[in-house]
Amino acid sequence: MSKYAELCAYGRRGATLKSIAALLGWDQETYMPRGGGDARAEQMALMAGMMHERGTSHELGDLISACEDEKLNDQQAACVREFRRDYDKRTKLPQSLVEELARTGSKAQDAWKDSRKDNDFNAFAPWLTKMVDLSRQKAQAYGFPEGGELYDALLDEYEPNATAKEVESVFTPLGKKLSALVKELSDSGDAPGEGPITIHAPEDRQHALGLHVLKAIGFDLNAGRLDITTHPFCEGLAPGDTRLTTRYDERYFPGALYGTMHEAGHGIYEQGLLKGGTHEGPGGDKIESFGTPLADDISLGIHESQSRMWENMVGRSRPFWNWIYQEARDHFADLGKFDEEEIYRAVNIVRPSYIRVEADEGTYNLHVMLRFGIERAMVAGDLSINDLPGAWNDRFKELFGLDVPDDKNGCLQDVHWSFGLFGYFPTYTLGNLYAAQFWQTINKELPGLEDDFAKGDFGRLKAWLNENIHAHGRRFSAGELCERVTGRPLESQPLMDYLSGKLRAVYRL
Ligand code: ZN
Repeated sequence: MSKYAELCAYGRRGATLKSIAALLGWDQETYMPRGGGDARAEQMALMAGMMHERGTSHELGDLISACEDEKLNDQQAACVREFRRDYDKRTKLPQSLVEELARTGSKAQDAWKDSRKDNDFNAFAPWLTKMVDLSRQKAQAYGFPEGGELYDALLDEYEPNATAKEVESVFTPLGKKLSALVKELSDSGDAPGEGPITIHAPEDRQHALGLHVLKAIGFDLNAGRLDITTHPFCEGLAPGDTRLTTRYDERYFPGALYGTMHEAGHGIYEQGLLKGGTHEGPGGDKIESFGTPLADDISLGIHESQSRMWENMVGRSRPFWNWIYQEARDHFADLGKFDEEEIYRAVNIVRPSYIRVEADEGTYNLHVMLRFGIERAMVAGDLSINDLPGAWNDRFKELFGLDVPDDKNGCLQDVHWSFGLFGYFPTYTLGNLYAAQFWQTINKELPGLEDDFAKGDFGRLKAWLNENIHAHGRRFSAGELCERVTGRPLESQPLMDYLSGKLRAVYRL
């Protein structure tokens, strides 16, 4: 067996361990009884420790070094390059810190659930303090290039090679243009009515509609499932097993419909990665790709570009409603009082609101910018945890013009910080930027795509994404993939053009 084949086999066993840990996490979110919390924290810490030990072993280091001396084609070389990147990052972290992050994160997550439910920030504050402290230790262990900051080391885990300064330089002008657009829409005298989206929509009917849409857009339910959680997510567990979750509000069906399409976008990416496939080794042998970077996602920004595209460019488009209207009416009797155009306009209402995951396309990125600024300050040590609610509420007022009524609708709403996911939020807006730029290219390359949607046919779009985005795994960096696919580096103009073109039309401006 070549060293390359040995390296891939080593990666495959690591990926199997990771899938077991992910299953424990999925179970904790969905079906685990409350009493299982402490035992689960120990299980998670043990798994994290085992994965870290394997992922930082001399055996793995030696295999990577040996492959770096082998004669490899571009694809194999990219695979080894990414194994090296992960290895170098992991070996910087002490095992004790990895286990402590997993153990404390698991408990902090349960604490967050309670404090969010009880609207009690003080109960969560000590846990958040611990998670910030552990994350700062992690960032220090990773280190960052000169001229950078601690936050960069954390951001790099989710969006390789991105820095806080670069993110800020894209976010600041985008934020100004978005605020101006939101104001223009708010001042228009022709806002869509919200009648269609506040009808009564029974939970079981919403679930049935969600499954119908999943099947149509190409999420393979033989290799996936849909469950209910407080905070919707997608877990690409293993080859043939991708789990989605959603939540239902009987007075606001778009929450679950678009939440499901969003997670399905992530799921279609996971299913499109070549986890069940093989690639050619240096000796011409067939090597299973699962567990190698060739069957892994590039970055959270690219992941999010897939979810946002299905949720917004597809799901919130006019032709989508041409197609789904009759089916939706069959499920929700009250929807029959409205026509397709009224529903299309209602699902595109732009209005400043408190909850990020339910925010419209116009204001969504402002929510992300708020979190980016705040977590960057927490990680830098410029914002103490006790001052978090105040800082959040002040900034929220500046961006949205609203007073936050309570922490449940403010700084306690997101799960991320309880897990220690600092540096994660910016990837949501990066995802919107990538999605809009890909979307421009897709519509040039696939004329008449929207006519397909009106007929419920999403096959050409899915095939294009499979071929141009998913199949490469981590062969290219996010920036390289963007240039390769669209011919341009990532820019903010496609997103602004898309949002302003669509939303101004919805508001008849
Ligand atoms: Zn997402």
